[in-house]
Amino acid sequence: MIRRDFFKLSILTAASLTSVKAVSNAKTNSKSTKTKIAICGGGFAGLSCAKQLKTLNPNLDVTVIEKRVNFSSCPFSNAWLGEVRNISYEDLNYDYNSAIEKYKYNFINATISDIDKDKKIITTEQGTIEYEYLIMAVGIDYNYKKLFRRDIKKAKECEVKAPPGLKPGSEHLKLKRMIKNFKGGNFVISIPSQAYKCPPAPYERACMIATYFKKNKIDGKVIIIDPRVKPAAKPERFTQTFNEIHKDIIEYKSNTKFKDVDFDKKEIYIESFNKKTLVFEKITLPFEEASIIPPNTANKLIKKAGLETYVNGWAKLRQPTFRSISHEDVYIIGDSQGEYPYPKSAQMANSCAYLVAEELVNRIKGEGYKYKTYLPGNVCYSMVSENKAVSISHLYKFTDKVHVTSITSDIDTFTADAAEGWYFGLIEDILGIES
Ligand SMILES: Cc1cc2nc3c(=O)[nH]c(=O)nc-3n(C[C@H](O)[C@H](O)[C@H](O)COP(=O)(O)OP(=O)(O)OC[C@H]3O[C@@H](n4cnc5c(N)ncnc54)[C@H](O)[C@@H]3O)c2cc1C
Repeated sequence: MIRRDFFKLSILTAASLTSVKAVSNAKTNSKSTKTKIAICGGGFAGLSCAKQLKTLNPNLDVTVIEKRVNFSSCPFSNAWLGEVRNISYEDLNYDYNSAIEKYKYNFINATISDIDKDKKIITTEQGTIEYEYLIMAVGIDYNYKKLFRRDIKKAKECEVKAPPGLKPGSEHLKLKRMIKNFKGGNFVISIPSQAYKCPPAPYERACMIATYFKKNKIDGKVIIIDPRVKPAAKPERFTQTFNEIHKDIIEYKSNTKFKDVDFDKKEIYIESFNKKTLVFEKITLPFEEASIIPPNTANKLIKKAGLETYVNGWAKLRQPTFRSISHEDVYIIGDSQGEYPYPKSAQMANSCAYLVAEELVNRIKGEGYKYKTYLPGNVCYSMVSENKAVSISHLYKFTDKVHVTSITSDIDTFTADAAEGWYFGLIEDILGIES
C-alpha cells in the first residue's frame, strides 16, 4: 500500500463514506451558477471545503480568505519536535499556490477584521468581500482570562514563555528551541479542563519530548498536569505508554489543577488531589521549561460576527446541520463548532467540510440534504515513541442526537506507518501536493 492510501483507508475505517460519495456526485453536477461563497480561514476545514465545493460544482465562485502566508500544520508537529520519522519543518509547511492552481478557487491573503452577517460583507485590511453564503473555518482562540483573569501582562508573558503550541508557526518553533536547548530538570505541560484543540496532542507531545530526551541523553523529566482522572484521549494506551515506554521520564499528575506561574522564580503552583487525605494539596513545582495550555474557545471572529456561542465559547449550530443558529446562510466548521461530540481534529474538520460542501451544492440546486444519514468520521493517530503510534477511530450515528462509538488500536509500528500515510494523504487531498 502506498502511504497516501492510508488517508483514504482511514476515512473508510472511520465509516465516513462522505468523501468517496461526494467525488462521485461531482460527475453528475452540471448546473452552472456563479453563487458567491466566502470561506474564512484556510486551515484544514476551510481548504477541504473550498476544494470540495469546486470539485462538486466548478462554476461556483469560491473565495478563501486566510491571514497566513503559507499553510502550516499542527498534525505531525509533535513528531517533528521529537525528531522521529525524519519529519522536517517543510513537511509541516506548504504554499497555497498548488491548491489554488489545482482546485481553481480564489484566495485572498488578508486578515479578517469584521463580518456583517446581515449585509453579508467581510472586512479585511485590503478591502471588503461580499458573499451569498459564508463558511466560517477560523479555528480556535486561547482564553487566558480563565487562567489569569484581567492580568493581561501575565497572559502575554505566559503565551510567549510557555507556548501552548496549539497554533502552528512561532509557537512550534519556540517549543522546538526549548526542547533542543534543554539541559535538564522539569519540562511541564499543563492541560486545561475544558474542550481544547486535538485532545491527544499534549499527551503525544509529552511522549515526543521524552523520546527526544532519551535519544539525546538529557536528564529531563516531562511532567503533565491534568485536571482529569485520566488522559482526555486514548486513556488506556497513553497510561500504558507513560508507565512502560517512558516510565523514567514522564510523570503524569492526574486530578491536578494549574493555579499560577512565576517565570522569575521558575515555579508553577498547582493543586493536586491527594487520594489518601481526600483533599487538594497546594504544591510548588520547579520547572525549567513549560507549555501551559489555557482553555480554548472558538476564534473570536465568531462572536464578533454576531454568531451565537455557548458559555464555553464554542459556536451554536442548528442541528442536524452546520448552519449557525444565528444565520441560515452562515456555516461553521472545524474546531470552532460546539454542537456535536466531534473531536477537534483535522480529520474531523476535513470530513465535516465535505458534508457541508455537499449540502451547500445541493441547497443551491434547490435540493435537500440528509445530515442524519451522512455523518462524518474520525481517525486520530498519536506517535508515542521513535517508531510506534496508537490510533482511535470514531464512528457516529444519528438517532435522537449524535452517538459515538470508538475503536482504539494497539501501540505498534504499523500504526506509525499508517499515521504518516494518513498525514501526507490529507496534505495531498487538500493542498494538491504530493510529497
Ligand atoms: C500539536 C497538534 C497535533 C495535532 N495532530 C492532529 C492529528 O494527528 N490528527 C488530526 O486529525 N488532528 C490533529 N490536530 C488538530 C488539528 O490541527 C485541528 O483540529 C485542525 O487544524 C482544525 O482545522 P480548522 O480548519 O478548524 O482550524 P485551523 O486549521 O486552525 O485553521 C483556521 C485558519 O483560520 C485562519 N484565521 C484565523 N483567524 C483569521 C482571521 N481573522 N483572518 C484570516 N484568517 C484567519 C488561521 O490562520 C488558520 O489558517 C492537532 C493539533 C495540534 C495542536
